[in-house]
Amino acid sequence: MTKPTGRCHCGTVTWAFSLPVKTVVKCHCNNCRKLQGSDYSCWIIVPKAQFELLIGHESLTLYQANKRSSKSFCSRCGSACHLVNGRHFPDCVVLPLGAVERFMPALAPQVQVYTANKAAWVNLHDDEPVLG
Ligand SMILES: [Zn+2]
Ligand SMILES: [Zn+2]
Repeated sequence: MTKPTGRCHCGTVTWAFSLPVKTVVKCHCNNCRKLQGSDYSCWIIVPKAQFELLIGHESLTLYQANKRSSKSFCSRCGSACHLVNGRHFPDCVVLPLGAVERFMPALAPQVQVYTANKAAWVNLHDDEPVLG
């Protein structure tokens, strides 16, 4: 099977990872809200060893959100490339689902998290377990 790939909006940064992923989360927390600019966001959690930055390393800017977490984004277009969440997923990278080039069933969101913070108009999905 070919590896799933992702890219930023301008195409300067591209990356790939191998399946299976650790999980795919739909997150309603305030951090993700600010980092992605959306009411909730979906993230692919991939073990570090399965992730590969293909091109654009020199164009990444690192934003250190706190001691354990960071966001690397394309300096040209601002798209998130990969994030580190040292609190919940210390050995993984966190990839924006929306940046993937081709959606496939293996990348469907599996869990909904931080639902206590969800926007009032967002309906939870019965087929995706809630983990708080
Ligand atoms: Zn870009
Ligand atoms: Zn979040």
